[in-house]
Amino acid sequence: MRAVRMTAPGTLEQVDVPTPTAGAGEVLLAVGAVGACHSDLHVLDAPPGLFPTPITLGHEIAGTVQTVGAGVTGWSPGDRAAVYGIIGCGTCRGCLRGRENQCRRVPPGGVGLSRDGGLAEHVVVPASRLLHVGDLELTQAAPLTDAGLTPYHAIELARPGLRPGTYCVVIGIGGLGHMAVQILAATTAVRIVAVDSNVAALDLATRVGAHHVVRAGPDAVDRIREIVGPAPDGADVVIDCVGLDPTLTTARGVVATGGRLLLVGLGGGTLPVRPVADEPPTVPLETSVEIPFWGTRAELAEVIALGRAGLLTADVQTFPLERAPEAYDLLRAGEIHGRAVIVP
Ligand code: NAD
Ligand code: ZN
Ligand code: ZN
Repeated sequence: MRAVRMTAPGTLEQVDVPTPTAGAGEVLLAVGAVGACHSDLHVLDAPPGLFPTPITLGHEIAGTVQTVGAGVTGWSPGDRAAVYGIIGCGTCRGCLRGRENQCRRVPPGGVGLSRDGGLAEHVVVPASRLLHVGDLELTQAAPLTDAGLTPYHAIELARPGLRPGTYCVVIGIGGLGHMAVQILAATTAVRIVAVDSNVAALDLATRVGAHHVVRAGPDAVDRIREIVGPAPDGADVVIDCVGLDPTLTTARGVVATGGRLLLVGLGGGTLPVRPVADEPPTVPLETSVEIPFWGTRAELAEVIALGRAGLLTADVQTFPLERAPEAYDLLRAGEIHGRAVIVP
């Protein structure tokens, strides 16, 4: 079968590989759609040794069951499914609580990150990773599994702070951010402030429900403060889907006392946190900082429900498998708005 693989650190290429077979407890999926996540660029850029090579990338997967391995019940050939990409140990304290994204035995990774993923005609996954998608298009179901799930999980963590009439700032309106805006619009009554350096991304933010948009840049904190009010008030929740020094500076510059910072983007920036009562603090008193990772299987079921209800729709640009490397080049250049989805 055809697969797009990271054959060496930094190298993405289409190759022919044997079609895998489903072992006990596994299913073979015919991949219907796979989202191109910015994390794949971080994986490609990572120093040698951090991720296995060669590996088929693609961790945002939806497909059709082709064959089922020994012992698999509840799934039959022809069933359409989304893939929950995390594979926790199942027995640690995190997994026992249903938080496989906090597994204490298996390092963060999953399908398409630590084992072969969906940038291929077929992928093998444990049957326990599949969720039914009903009549959703597979090109819609795929981005729900990460671009939808990750901000949904972050919003779940912040939910006690998302009071009606308060402000939530979302920084970075790409694949994840444009889903974050819709999840906030569908499940809260907060005022949504979208921030991005790209004008087309801000247009998308407005189309999907942002109440205010602000262009990122040196005056972003002042512009956002005109909306959310001066310190020590401000945004009760800030979700940074970029994670670079300038966006983290914006985030801590607009969060309210007692607010919440959710650092979703893995851009490698640094957020200084210094416990002092005098001004200006690095982050306001009573503020919490969290680094959400992906989400739980139960949350993915809820994200799929939002999608099926028509409340969460990825803005999708599709590419055939052989153009996957080009899709990633466009993503790196900031020329994808919404989600690039590869259709093998
Ligand atoms: P994307 O490329 O689709 O979107 C990024 C957006 O940020 C773009 O709209 C871009 O214009 C904007 N942007 C870039 N630099 C900016 C700046 N300085 N100021 C304001 N906006 C800026 O990326 P994505 O797929 O949505 O992923 C976003 C980040 O989230 C990546 O770092 C990715 O690795 C990370 N991620 C984290 C998790 C997790 O579990 N924590 C899961 C998935 C993705
Ligand atoms: Zn991802
Ligand atoms: Zn575990």
